Amino acid sequence: MKNYVKVSDKLLAELFPINRSITGSGNRHSLKILKKIVPLKIKSFKSGQKVFDWKIPDEWNPIEAWIKDKSGNILIDFKVNNLHLLGYSTPIHKKFFFHELKENLFYDKKKPKSIPYRTSYYKKRWGFCVTKSQYDLLKKSTDKLEVCIKTNFKKKGEMNYGELLIPGKTRGEILISTYLCHPSMANDNLSGVILTALIAKEILRKKNLKKSYRIIWVPETIGAIAYCKNNEKKLNQIKYGLVISTVGGPGRFSFKKSWDEKHFINDLAEKILKENRIKYKNVPFDIHGSDERQFSSQAFRINTVTIAKSKYYDYAQYHSSADDLTFVKSEYILKSLKIYMCLIEEIENQKIYKSEKKYCEPMLSKYGLYPEVGGEINPNIGSHSTLDIILWLIFLCDGNTSLEQIEKKIKVDRFKIRQVIKILLKKKILSEI
Ligand code: ZN
Repeated sequence: MKNYVKVSDKLLAELFPINRSITGSGNRHSLKILKKIVPLKIKSFKSGQKVFDWKIPDEWNPIEAWIKDKSGNILIDFKVNNLHLLGYSTPIHKKFFFHELKENLFYDKKKPKSIPYRTSYYKKRWGFCVTKSQYDLLKKSTDKLEVCIKTNFKKKGEMNYGELLIPGKTRGEILISTYLCHPSMANDNLSGVILTALIAKEILRKKNLKKSYRIIWVPETIGAIAYCKNNEKKLNQIKYGLVISTVGGPGRFSFKKSWDEKHFINDLAEKILKENRIKYKNVPFDIHGSDERQFSSQAFRINTVTIAKSKYYDYAQYHSSADDLTFVKSEYILKSLKIYMCLIEEIENQKIYKSEKKYCEPMLSKYGLYPEVGGEINPNIGSHSTLDIILWLIFLCDGNTSLEQIEKKIKVDRFKIRQVIKILLKKKILSEI
């Protein structure tokens, strides 16, 4: 693996100050920066498109936002920290007494020193997010405060995302997804955005790639939903995936399992964490979280795992201005990169098969596989047990079961299983995915 400290440091510094949201020029700008290091395509969905139960909102671009006192001193300024502006705020320019203003101010009692991250994507309103001391300062003002928010909503706008398909030998694809809609928070989820780019860079360096990787940087929730809606066919090609979030903090690793906890991607991830002697928190699948909620929904049921470092919900700085560049370090992102690349190596080495005879048992004698008429079966295996293995393989190879799992289930060693697989591949009864 290459040393990416400088690349990661540069990306953290360049991308951190940019105001990202579910739409807007900040997202395009961020994707353009990522494009310098990986050949992703910058794509878009149109504002107003109906995507399943949702509608892609108008494109939102903030220009300025501040609160001034009577003497014209700026007390709160979006320029200083873009978390100050409630995401998707509508425009306003008006003077208010504090008691009129306070319902539009947000601070976090539990984290008084930091600015909370708040958005209002689907209900039109405006607001400012502030620290407790800023709130108290505004509260002291007996005069009217001047509030200005300049934002625009573009009906014919777009919601951008990045996509990179790295083709390998097999048709089945592995999805790697992360979200780029959060402004100025380093762990959630700038770390994930950068790590995903580094993973892509490392995959691109691999020779003789066996699997294909579909890598996407989408706005969380609405972006993933829009992607699912506009790529239903592509999603059917996806075998399983990784959802990358919060990978750059100093805290411990966490491993969130996929919706079907028996799926082998869970075994692989745990194996890697153990081999690397990582102490990690086991997180069962849960309906909360990131875009696994969309990819694993009933229509798609893609198994995705997440390995996080200082996982979302689990660190004090989460969803606040304290999740900054003093909290996240390239060194931590690169630790996560190492784990993910070990997992990808393991994924590359997996041979997963699918039975082409899923409608009942095939007529084995037709293929010369039934012992009475056989002769094509390797006599060293013993024809009776070979028949068993053939039947088990046809029964179990569903494209979602690993050889290790099959080995455990039927208690036959892998050498024997592989011999039989060779025969079944030749007869086109099994195919590799
Ligand atoms: Zn978040």
